[in-house]
Amino acid sequence: MEYYSKQISTLIEELAHLPGIGQKTAARLAFHIIDSPMENVNRLADAIRDARANVCYCKKCLTITDSELCPICADEKRNHHVIMVVENPRDLAAYEKTQKYDGVYHVLHGVISPMLGIGPQDIRLKELMQRLQTEAVDEVIIATGSSLEGETTAMYISKLIKPAGIKVTRIASGVPVGGDLENIDEVTLLRALEGRVEL
Ligand code: ZN
Repeated sequence: MEYYSKQISTLIEELAHLPGIGQKTAARLAFHIIDSPMENVNRLADAIRDARANVCYCKKCLTITDSELCPICADEKRNHHVIMVVENPRDLAAYEKTQKYDGVYHVLHGVISPMLGIGPQDIRLKELMQRLQTEAVDEVIIATGSSLEGETTAMYISKLIKPAGIKVTRIASGVPVGGDLENIDEVTLLRALEGRVEL
């Protein structure tokens, strides 16, 4: 049985597709949108459309950006000899917020998960290996999370890189197990970075 008009049901359905949004929250958001002034709704719709249309992946580190190179890769003052490997752009943002890391990044867009059938070829590892061949890199810091998948990915990358003679380090395990990096406070992140160990 349909409780709402077709348009509202469709809106609720679309919102409920977003991660972390259940039916209840979707309905609340939908009614909020319907009660909002038209100009606010247009602004939201434009922001969604523009972001999707204009955002692309940085040619080097693969984070999301709106130009060929992201501001970090384009910054000559950053240390381009140190690459921190992170799971996603949100983790990159978490480390950037500490303002203490001056190297560059590589975004994997995922982690290896045999359980979910996600293999090394499904994340942006090949691109990392290509960078290591063309860029002069002294150290690769693996900052994937401390979940089983994060650890598996770290071990896999380390085995892959080490024969090339590049120093590979892993952030310290001060990070709670299974914790999303973006939810961890800056002090813990800094400690994890400073206490990194060589693999
Ligand atoms: Zn970049």
